Amino acid sequence: MTQVLFVVSECAPLIKTGGLADVAGALPQALAAHGCKVRTVLPGYRAIMGGLGKTKVVERYDDLFGGPATLRACSVHGLDLLIVDAPHLFDRDGGIYGDAAGLDWPDNPERFAALSYVAAMIADKGAAGWVPDIVHGHDWQAGLTPEYLHALGVAVPFVFTVHNIAFHGNTSAERLQDLRLSSDRFDADHFEFWGQISALKAALAGAAKITTVSQTYAQELLTPEFGIGMDGILRARRGDLLGIVNGIDEDVWNPATDPDIKPYKTAAGKAANKTALRKTFGLGKSDGPLCVLVSRLTEQKGIDLLLRALPELLAGGGQLALLGSGAPELEVALLEAASEHPNVAVKIGYDEALSHKMMAGGDAILVPSRFEPCGLTQLYGLRYGTLPLVALTGGLADTVINASPAALSSGVATGIQFNPITAQALGDAFGRLCALYAQPTVWKKMQSNAMKQAVGWDTSAAEYAGIYAQLRTAAA
Ligand code: ADP
Repeated sequence: MTQVLFVVSECAPLIKTGGLADVAGALPQALAAHGCKVRTVLPGYRAIMGGLGKTKVVERYDDLFGGPATLRACSVHGLDLLIVDAPHLFDRDGGIYGDAAGLDWPDNPERFAALSYVAAMIADKGAAGWVPDIVHGHDWQAGLTPEYLHALGVAVPFVFTVHNIAFHGNTSAERLQDLRLSSDRFDADHFEFWGQISALKAALAGAAKITTVSQTYAQELLTPEFGIGMDGILRARRGDLLGIVNGIDEDVWNPATDPDIKPYKTAAGKAANKTALRKTFGLGKSDGPLCVLVSRLTEQKGIDLLLRALPELLAGGGQLALLGSGAPELEVALLEAASEHPNVAVKIGYDEALSHKMMAGGDAILVPSRFEPCGLTQLYGLRYGTLPLVALTGGLADTVINASPAALSSGVATGIQFNPITAQALGDAFGRLCALYAQPTVWKKMQSNAMKQAVGWDTSAAEYAGIYAQLRTAAA
């Protein structure tokens, strides 16, 4: 058994803002089938402390970045957790990264430095006698871990996964001491990034292996356009970088057993869910495809492109049901579109159960992202026979088979991809979508292809296990 410590800032179903949580929630179980035992160190946010059941204090820290803290072990939802119970850092109302107004917490550098520091201490001294063979950090919140491993003289290999390069975790160099970082290593080879401390850079420089969540994104990251300033260090480390596509939790996302929907085994069972979904969103009947979209509303997700291309969908008789929250200007624009068009309905908010109903009731799931490291909703769509219409980028390029004439004639298509990522190309894709939807035999074939795609974790978990094994051998 390989003992692995996950270091991560969110984990489904306990606490989630995006796909990172889904991965952290599902991958440990998938790894168990490949000889890996994962324990996950997670901040003890106020929002999760009540739902952990029985916890056991396994370590105490007198001063964890400004206050006393404990490490609590517990098992919940099939996950073995080590919770950093540090009230001065995590016991507060609001979001996990920012206040109710959406402003980042000013002490985020300390909050996630504390998470990373605890991870390094667990790798050093263990937690209740358990010591990991591998430490696996996810995104910038775990980024300083290799610096602390180095400072404590711990040789346990560190693996780092980039879920989204857009978040750097940068902070002013004045915080060096507060963050217990060595000024000797504040340089371009370690964690200095344009004069600032960068947690992401620390991880990219210090990891034994770097993974990211699709092969296409791994290639894209090497370019200035997608690497967002980190492409240089990634090019230098390209020998240790590889793409491993995300899977989905096939128990949580299973149309045959999903408690939030009218369960179905074949796409024919979607009709009842479509009727229910239209009712939920106040949409009438229409001849075209019912498109759904579930997302954070940010520039990344291409919502502005969708708004501009919407007339093409509506002209084809299509409908849109959208669930999301985020940038206020996008929320306003979407609500305006909904008030102008009877075939557009928008719900602003975060609603896990409704997102399941949308996968079940929609004909197509839209993911018009400008960049998308992997993307999960198109994978849910495949499993639910809800055909993905996606931008040709990152994981969206790797997981959908475009309905090109060749793919259609050989019967392998599972969705539609558009490129370049512009409103015009998205509008054209809506035209193709409506035309395909009007051909029931072709559409049904695509649905059955989609529902047969392998979207689980098995293959990818085996790849992670392979990396751990390789590093263990090298470290021995
Ligand atoms: P990202 O991590 O960039 O947000 P992903 O597609 O990888 O994008 O993952 C997003 C996850 O968050 C999916 O599980 C999606 O269903 C979920 N999600 C996003 N917005 C909402 C929402 N408003 N309500 C419910 N679930 C949401």
